[in-house]
Amino acid sequence: MYLVLLGPPGAGKGTYSPTLTALFKIPVLSLGDILRNEAKCDTKLGRKIENYIKTGELVPDNLIIEIVSNIIDSEEGEGGVIFDGFPRTINQAEKLLEILKQRDLVIDLVLDIFSNDKTITDRLSSRWVCPYCGRAYNMMTAPPKKNMRCDFDDTPLIQREDDNPNVIRRRLKVYKEQSKPILDFYIAKSIPYIRVDSTGTIKKCWEKILNSLFEINIIDKKTYDSYKNTETDRIHKAGRENRR
Ligand SMILES: [Zn+2]
Repeated sequence: MYLVLLGPPGAGKGTYSPTLTALFKIPVLSLGDILRNEAKCDTKLGRKIENYIKTGELVPDNLIIEIVSNIIDSEEGEGGVIFDGFPRTINQAEKLLEILKQRDLVIDLVLDIFSNDKTITDRLSSRWVCPYCGRAYNMMTAPPKKNMRCDFDDTPLIQREDDNPNVIRRRLKVYKEQSKPILDFYIAKSIPYIRVDSTGTIKKCWEKILNSLFEINIIDKKTYDSYKNTETDRIHKAGRENRR
């Protein structure tokens, strides 16, 4: 199962990806995390990437493709991968299809989680993070137990520059411009595609995701039933753990 997870920041990719991992028994490849991890490795590739990250430049497509194909060939990625934050460009999207095709594999599903700009702006601007451990809290849906302090290390929480409403509006605009051609590309290639509105509660959105997966025969009735009502708490918990 190779799944491409699309959606703007704040639509809920980080919230649902741990449960999708549990459902399909495949890891999430979050490109941002992978690049940061790779940059820490003392390898030729690692040092190159570290350089790009340090100078704030975009990591070029050929390096990204190299990393992604290494992951697909690794033990961890052999049964499938959830791609999060990748592909970002048409070139990457084309290369990903090529890499999979060379291995007789396909993209089984594109899952696009969206919401309206107002909901996303409200969600993201209510996000606070722990500067010590990086855990994220949402003051509307998943606040810390103690007032404005991290549950795990008691550090006072801060708001990231990225999560201020003006910056969020700009990030959404950039996302829309970047993602439109990628969506069109997948639709043109007739790859199974689901679009889910994540406005509203986590429970509702998770139900919509499951319903869609069931409708296009990606999961069977038994899986549908067993994941329908039991997962919401886990999504809350796992989503928070995941957003480090
Ligand atoms: Zn913390």
